[in-house]
Amino acid sequence: MLPELILHEGREKSLLRHHPWVFSRAIASLPKSLPNGAVVRLISSCGDFLAYGHYSAHSQITVRALSFEENQLPDEDWLFARLSEAFERRRALQRRGNEAVRVVDAEADLLPGLTLDRYGDFLVMAISSYGMDLWRQLIVSVLRRLCPEVSIYERSDLKARRKEGLEERCGVLWGQEPPDCLYLKEENTILLPCNLKTGHKTGAYLDQRDNRRFAADFAAQARVLNCFSYTGGFGLWCLKGGALSLTNVDLSRAALEQAKSAVLENHLDPGRCQFIKADVFDFLRQEQQKGARYDLIILDPPKFADGAAHLKRACRGYQDINRLGFELLAEGGMLLTFSCSGALERALFQKIVADAAVDAGVCAQITAHLSQAGDHPVALSCPESLYLKGLAVRHCGRFKAKTDRLLVAQ
Ligand code: SAH
Repeated sequence: MLPELILHEGREKSLLRHHPWVFSRAIASLPKSLPNGAVVRLISSCGDFLAYGHYSAHSQITVRALSFEENQLPDEDWLFARLSEAFERRRALQRRGNEAVRVVDAEADLLPGLTLDRYGDFLVMAISSYGMDLWRQLIVSVLRRLCPEVSIYERSDLKARRKEGLEERCGVLWGQEPPDCLYLKEENTILLPCNLKTGHKTGAYLDQRDNRRFAADFAAQARVLNCFSYTGGFGLWCLKGGALSLTNVDLSRAALEQAKSAVLENHLDPGRCQFIKADVFDFLRQEQQKGARYDLIILDPPKFADGAAHLKRACRGYQDINRLGFELLAEGGMLLTFSCSGALERALFQKIVADAAVDAGVCAQITAHLSQAGDHPVALSCPESLYLKGLAVRHCGRFKAKTDRLLVAQ
């Protein structure tokens, strides 16, 4: 019999809606000397079964629910079924010509604590909870049954593991060591650079796939500015879309070098490209002083807000880059602007972008609401799985006079 955790009265509501997190304050009683990472049964104050979940002794989230059906005990067969469903759901994306896809997105795929990405012949996994960490070998053996041909690599170099009392951990779990850089087909069009051992996330920003392709629609004959370019994914699509010029800006020299190689690997024209190692905030200010103009600007910064505590400062950062972005945008041009801070809600992000346009004296219209790609789904029962928000905004002309600007600002 599995250990049982009993919830306080009224605390079962979120579990009944299949939200997977149970915080310590919701728990009325738990067995003495419960081992960290154990699979437990969650029971309501009336004695009803609610869910099975992984217990975390050190985290604020004491239990992460795995299964809400009493007859579906999370064991090896259960894991096999859940992982094969996750693979199945990504088949269409792979058939469309994507060699790099997210296969398991933690809570959103009902496997909290586990992220799994497929990169060609490699699977890369990241584990963020104690219970999943204990399951490492079980996961590997199930994955080998599901995809016998692939190698498995771990990228659990996640800060979140410290809250669970876990060390960061990377390395080969099965098969071959990945090469330093893989070029993998994206939407049957671009070869995306993926660095499985040292790149950001598990090797690439797969969540921006749809938005990179979307950017290409506005690139024909455009002067493109790709801010926070990383290894240049947006830029590659823009070159493919016929960009007149492309300026990639990033702080990381290694990422820019990779972006340069990726242009050649894709047989695109390096003569149209600039790779600038700079702080985007400084670069945008300098360009503004020079009176530079661009027809397409992409702003895809790293997470400015790690949680609600940093939200105010983060908002100022978003406002600054977006104002500068609008100031550099040519009339009729497009700004593609993003935030991957989960703590910042879409409505507030839109307000920040609207304020930035007013500050820049620009009339603008939203032509598309952008989000994370479909292999990074959002469980309706767990809205926290939505984090990436973007807006496509068109520059429709400048406010005529300062007084007009003030009127609009009110
Ligand atoms: N658009 C990319 C992902 C961007 S990730 C893609 O589609 O693949 C964010 C990038 O911002 C990282 O490469 C990081 O090096 C860079 N960065 C972070 N802060 C920066 C700053 N102040 N100025 C310039 N680059 C910055």
